[in-house]
Amino acid sequence: MRNIILTGLPGSGKTTLGRLLAARLSRPFIDLDEVIEAQEGRAIAAIFEAEGEDYFRDVEADAVQKAAAAGGTVIATGGGTLLRKGSAEALAQNGFIIFIDRPVEAILSDIEMAHRPLLKEGPEKLLALARQRREVYLAHAGMVLENSGSPEEAAEMLAAACTPLFTPGYAVIGDPIGHSLSPGLHRAAFEAQGLDEAYTALRVPPAALAGFMACMRASPLKGCNITLPHKQAVLPLLDEVEETAALCGAVNTVAVQEGRLCGFNTDMEGLHLSLRRAGRGYAGQRVLLLGAGGAARGVALKGALEGAAAVHIAARDIAKADALARHVSAATGRPVESGGFAPDKLAEAAAGCSLLINATPLGMAGVDRDFEDFAFLEQLPPDALVCDLVYNPPQTALLRQAAALGHETLNGLGMLIYQALLAQEIFLGRTLDKETLYSTVNTALTQHKEGPTL
Ligand code: NAP
Repeated sequence: MRNIILTGLPGSGKTTLGRLLAARLSRPFIDLDEVIEAQEGRAIAAIFEAEGEDYFRDVEADAVQKAAAAGGTVIATGGGTLLRKGSAEALAQNGFIIFIDRPVEAILSDIEMAHRPLLKEGPEKLLALARQRREVYLAHAGMVLENSGSPEEAAEMLAAACTPLFTPGYAVIGDPIGHSLSPGLHRAAFEAQGLDEAYTALRVPPAALAGFMACMRASPLKGCNITLPHKQAVLPLLDEVEETAALCGAVNTVAVQEGRLCGFNTDMEGLHLSLRRAGRGYAGQRVLLLGAGGAARGVALKGALEGAAAVHIAARDIAKADALARHVSAATGRPVESGGFAPDKLAEAAAGCSLLINATPLGMAGVDRDFEDFAFLEQLPPDALVCDLVYNPPQTALLRQAAALGHETLNGLGMLIYQALLAQEIFLGRTLDKETLYSTVNTALTQHKEGPTL
């Protein structure tokens, strides 16, 4: 079993949290500094004083090799342990490294600087170490735990975050991740199938993504969903990427299949199924797509692949719209147009289109911007469907205005639910009764007391 290794600045709580975590997970605990002190028969400060830092790092490297070989152990490292390449490699080879990220101000307020060999020069030294070492911690860590509260709270979060790495199950990874609806959604879907599967949200910052994926290959995690900002960055870290996900350049689902990390994109088909549920596919539709970001990429590609009669991409960054149109056209052989986002351009593009899809965050809760005006909606033919990928709020101003003009409307909740059900089909390796599960999950989500928040 792999070790759990805690790294971070002196005073970030590695020892306290390590002890609490080990107790919660019923695992042995090793504090490298304590091991070295016992072996040398003197305090770390005395070793630094008498022999210097190089000697200490040599002794530490020996202790690391022994601890790393243990397996199944929670290990609290020293603040500088990962600076030695050999030590960092030995720990990573048989363990999952977690960066305990405690703000420097919090450390300064609760540790006795004089007892820390590298900190006795005062607060400036800690700030300098934070500047020098943060990148090192992030480069080696597979996960980051913000430790700004009490040790008990942090240990609880840590145990929750570690459990899926050591017990079979699933997770969603992203940064930020706090408001993700995926755990509730997936748990409801597993439960409706009578499956007792764990599903957790893990905060993995960009710098930790490579470490996380490497650890995942050897962990009992059976799969994970990928959310912002990792959908593109994860591709080169996978062993295989399914063809349309590769064409799209975005992966939202990773399944571990015979030890290999295989990437898929269920967002694209998720929206397609949601449109079909509303009585429309892409086939034969004249699509006006607003936005040229990550989600728009999948919409344009899937629309063209499914035989849309025309796709017009409108974006405020014309160069991005042009590039996406060229990419999709080259990949599918279908005609794809592009244009600007100014009201007159939108009005021009809306005339004659039968399906309008908003793939910008305009109108989303927490985003303080919305469409400048909605006059372009008046150009749509009466039977045009207006779809917003945003699902919080469930009815954006765009959908309200479109409904007021008599248009059928669709929000992004259907896409969200279908992409999760499609991901579960990949995880479980079988076809699900998605329509029955859709209703169950939809009910579970609408009963969510805070409503959809991501
Ligand atoms: P993204 O990669 O950041 O792309 C956003 C697009 O919107 C970009 O083209 C961006 O233009 C454009 N944009 C941003 N602010 C704008 C403004 N003020 N005026 C005009 N255009 C603007 O984001 P994404 O991942 O594609 O997500 C887009 C939306 O889809 C979000 O609301 C997201 O929540 C939603 N979504 C929903 C689901 C679902 O399951 N329902 C799944 C994925 C995404 P620039 O490139 O110029 O910044």
